This record gives sequence, structure tokens and C-alpha cells, in this order.
Amino acid sequence: MSSLSVPRPAGLDRPFVAPRRHMFGPGPSNVPPRVLEAGSNPVIGHMHPEMFEIMSDIKSGIRYAFQTHNHVTLAVSGSGHAAMECALLNTLEPGDALLVVANGIWGERAADIAERIGAKVHTIAAPPGGCVTNDEINKALSKLRPVLMFVAHGESSTGVLHPLDGIGDLCHKYGCLLLVDAVASMGGAPLYMDKQGIDILYTGSQKVLNSPPGTAPISFSPRACQKVFNRKTKPVSFFLDLTWLANYWGCDDKPTRIYHHTGPVSAFYSLRESLRMLAEEGLESSWERHRMVAEYFHTGLENMGLKLFVKDKNARLPTVTTILAPPGYDWKEITSFIMKTHNLEVSGGLGPSVGLVLRVGLMGCNSSRESVDMVLNALKDALKHCHKSKV
Ligand code: PMP
Repeated sequence: MSSLSVPRPAGLDRPFVAPRRHMFGPGPSNVPPRVLEAGSNPVIGHMHPEMFEIMSDIKSGIRYAFQTHNHVTLAVSGSGHAAMECALLNTLEPGDALLVVANGIWGERAADIAERIGAKVHTIAAPPGGCVTNDEINKALSKLRPVLMFVAHGESSTGVLHPLDGIGDLCHKYGCLLLVDAVASMGGAPLYMDKQGIDILYTGSQKVLNSPPGTAPISFSPRACQKVFNRKTKPVSFFLDLTWLANYWGCDDKPTRIYHHTGPVSAFYSLRESLRMLAEEGLESSWERHRMVAEYFHTGLENMGLKLFVKDKNARLPTVTTILAPPGYDWKEITSFIMKTHNLEVSGGLGPSVGLVLRVGLMGCNSSRESVDMVLNALKDALKHCHKSKV
């Protein structure tokens, strides 16, 4: 007689085989075979010398991808949200003021996280599908004197690419640090951490980098480190404490690294390979490819009679496109039809764009004219076969 009261789960009797899909939603995107293969290497210790070499390669790869010389550059063990929390939890202390440029859901999330820390959150909201001007930012900075300002470079919920030029200088004029979310834009649109005066920058592994979800590159400028490493209080998270993470990643010049947590070894193998692929192609070529493919896609959509949510061509994110939900159709029927019939993921809106748009992400290896043709064909088919109301 067994001592177990919970029987062996029936579902675990069989192995799982993942379906092959075209991952053309806002993420995760498809993972190319060489990145998957890199991840299937034997697991070694997270503090073995070979692992430290891999982590060192990852740091160099992130510095290249971010265009920064920052010493404190590493990958957080977690998704984009973990990097977002790492940035906010380490930089803000209770009572500190944060200015959020909100042009979609990511500004709202940053505000939510900062409120939990006890920061004073001020928001400047952009019009739907639009941006905030440098003039508005200047006014808000001079009035509110925040210690940190957040902006999403690639707002994947609205499809907006927010201009960054000049914002760093404005922030620094008022003694404020600039925090930029580049989860959806890094590698797909021009971004220069050092030149643009960005103090904290993070991204995710599963978008343009085409790695599995679960690691999140992040970098802190010396100015940001000055604030983070001179806090009066400890950050509320042990797991995301930059003092510990900087040591684990060999960014603190201490002679020994102390065990903090077990890094996701296989995910680091994959991340390294993704960064290798980006370096092989060249950052500028990758930006240009995403720009050209997005232009080809947007023209194709307009030729079909569909309308883009972001009116200003220059403010369109090349990686994630927001298409106004075709009038008379149920967007959910369109996305499920496309998944069922074309084995292809496109998604609906998120946060402020729910019900208003369809979102298509063409990132990293998915940014190609072939993928665009596939999406256009699937959309045409959906508009032909899905139910259209007469009103
Ligand atoms: N910021 C942006 C701009 C994003 O697009 C996403 C993911 N959709 C995130 C943050 C959060 O990333 P994750 O889902 O990996 O936590």
C-alpha cells in the first residue's frame, strides 16, 4: 500500500511536444535553431569558471547592443518585469519622486511598481498612439523635480516609438536620472545608451533577441550607480538587490563572487547565442532591416484598406505594429481564425488599446518580407471569412 494520498498525475504520463507556430504577436518571438541548440548544452554550475566566461561574453554583448561602456551591465534572471522592478526597486526610496511618461501600459506598470515602494508618482500622459514632447517633459521636470523619469522607448501596447533625443540632457539639467524601457525596441530601432544620456536601460530576451523568455539585460550608468549604491535604506527585494547582482556578475571589482542565486544556466547559453547573432548581423543592419520590413508591412496594410493606430509615421514602432481593429469585425474572431487557419499568432490590444487594435510583432529573425507576406495573406483571409456585422 502506498503512503501517498495524491496519485501520480495522469497528464504527466505522456511527453509534451510543442506545436510549431509563427510567433508574430508582441512576444515571445520565434527562437532560431542555433539559439535553441545553445540552450540544450549540458548544465554546468552557475559559478563554474566557464559560466563566468559566458557571463562576461553576455555583458560585452549587452554593452554592444545597448551602445554603452557602463561597468554595471548584466542580465537579470527573470522576464522584462524583473528588470523593470530591478531598475525601480534599486533606484527609488520611499518618498522619492518619480515622473512617468505614460504612453501606454508600461508607464502604468512603472507607476504601480513605484507606488508599492512608497515613491511619489507623477504622470504626464501622451495622447493615445502619440508621444510627449520635450517641452512638456522640461516643464514637468522643472516643476516636480523627480529623482527618476521613466519612459518606454518601444510602447508595445500602442505601437509607439518614443523619441529619446534630448531627454537625457533635460533630465540631467534637473538632477534627475533617465530610465528607459527598451523591451520591445532594443535591436529593432536606433538606441544609444551613452550618447542619449540614458541612466538605466533594460530589455527582454524574447523579442528582437529571439531567445526564450526568462532573462533580461539591464545596465546602470555611473550616475545611476551613485544613487543606487548610496541609498539610506536597503531595497525591499533581496533577489533584485543590485549590490548582490553586481557582485554575482563581476561588476563590483571585488576579488570574490559570493553565491546569491542559481542563475538560469541554460537560458544564459541561449542569451549568449542571441547576442552573438545580433553582433554578427551588426546593430545598424538590424535596425535598418526592421525599419525596411516595417515600412513594407505598413504599406501593405494600408493597401488593404486597414488603418494604423499611430498616425505619425516617425512615431511608429518598427517591431510591434498596431492596426486599428477592422470596423464591423470581432477582433477575437480574427486572431483565433488566423491562429487556427494559418498557425500564426497575432494578438489583440493591451491596456489602453484593448478592443481598439490588432498587434503584430515582427522581431529579430521574424522581421522579414516573407513574414510580412504571411501576415498580410492571413489578414486578407480573415477579413474574407470572419463574420462582419452590417452596421
Ligand atoms: N516592457 C515592454 C515594452 C514590453 O513589451 C514587455 C512585454 N510585453 C514588458 C515590458 C514586460 O516584459 P515581460 O513580459 O518579459 O515581463
